[in-house]
Amino acid sequence: MAQPAPHTHIIKRVTLPSGKQVDVVSYVAAGTDVARPNAPQQPLACCPSCGHDRVQPTGWSEVGTSHWHVTLRCPDCEERREAIFGQSELDEFDVALDEGTRSVAADLDLLARANMADDIDRFIKALGGDHIVPEDF
Ligand SMILES: [Zn+2]
Repeated sequence: MAQPAPHTHIIKRVTLPSGKQVDVVSYVAAGTDVARPNAPQQPLACCPSCGHDRVQPTGWSEVGTSHWHVTLRCPDCEERREAIFGQSELDEFDVALDEGTRSVAADLDLLARANMADDIDRFIKALGGDHIVPEDF
């Protein structure tokens, strides 16, 4: 017999501005505390399972005029969930994603500069030790 899936889900009924009601299904890891209806809303970039702030959108589609159905993935614990979010919540998420992109780009720049400085040091040492000769070029 197959093992039960290691995830559970929550169904939340949402009324869209158009009046249409949709059931939003969110998949969460088994054992995750999902029964906190009055808990403060976490930013979308924060993973409800592991708490890291690198959640990324993997898909989205417009629902009505001011909401989006978004699928999210946490690269740290691989939790995947989907739900419908309002534009203001997604605007905050967009800012967090931009900040994350800038942070990664800054780290990449530092790493590239450190690698380049290391390459130059090794090249200077090789030249000084006569380990590089004209025939190398
Ligand atoms: Zn996570």
